[in-house]
Amino acid sequence: MVRIIDVCSGKGGVGKTTVAANLGLALQNFGKKVAVVDCNLTTSHLGLLFGFHNYPITLNNFLKGEARMEDIIYMHHSGLRIVPASLELRDLIDINPSNFENKLKEVFQDFDIVLLDSAPGLGREALMALQVANEVLFVANPFITSLVDVVKCNQLRNSLESKPIAIGIILNRMRKKAYEISVDEATQFCELPVIGVVPEDEKILESTNNRSLVTLSYRNSNSSKAFFKIAAKLVGIEYEKESFLDKIKKVFGKHRSKM
Ligand code: ADP
Ligand code: MG
Repeated sequence: MVRIIDVCSGKGGVGKTTVAANLGLALQNFGKKVAVVDCNLTTSHLGLLFGFHNYPITLNNFLKGEARMEDIIYMHHSGLRIVPASLELRDLIDINPSNFENKLKEVFQDFDIVLLDSAPGLGREALMALQVANEVLFVANPFITSLVDVVKCNQLRNSLESKPIAIGIILNRMRKKAYEISVDEATQFCELPVIGVVPEDEKILESTNNRSLVTLSYRNSNSSKAFFKIAAKLVGIEYEKESFLDKIKKVFGKHRSKM
């Protein structure tokens, strides 16, 4: 069965779209059949990150009953499938999400993973994605406000009838500052595991303005490595096996510190 994973957060601007797009590419790179769907209808950015801005038909057309879901799936050159939302304000009128869940599950039934790039918050738009998903990934920044919002989102998830499974939190934009909330603190506070940490990385900002993605443009950057590591964890692939040299360094390092 296809895994439908909602990438969500209480707050906007924490990195949901960045995470959904780069995880999608990393999973695709691992040989999985993956789609990323822009469920942020009011402030959609997913298409822009993939270098497109002028899709003839989008998810909005499907939700208005004007297009078939099969016709709003676009293929990125990486092989990743994208379902964009409209950038036009007028496309927010007459939206009806009642058919979204059934159609999504039918059209993507032979995919391994569908990532939903959620709208922020606990409103109707965010709920549309949360209700369709069978798993949830929370994105937060290492600040108390962001983690409070994760707790709220998780409460909302818990209140749903068809409760999606909470995979855990991705802590994004970590700068290794003493004042930041640590992985342990986030785990304890949210009562959810932190499944990955993505560092603050200027290469992400540079890639965005170059209409690219860090996992494509800067494969060896720290953030890119973090996305691949999280993607591997999501699908149970061993990634970056410890090299023999690393092993020696570790052992000798230990001995040296004892002397
Ligand atoms: P959301 O979808 O939650 O609103 P975005 O993915 O659009 O958030 O990210 C908000 C901004 O933060 C964007 O400008 C993005 O490029 C930037 N950003 C996200 N993650 C990182 C990171 N790890 N390092 C640096 N900039 C980041
Ligand atoms: Mg977004």
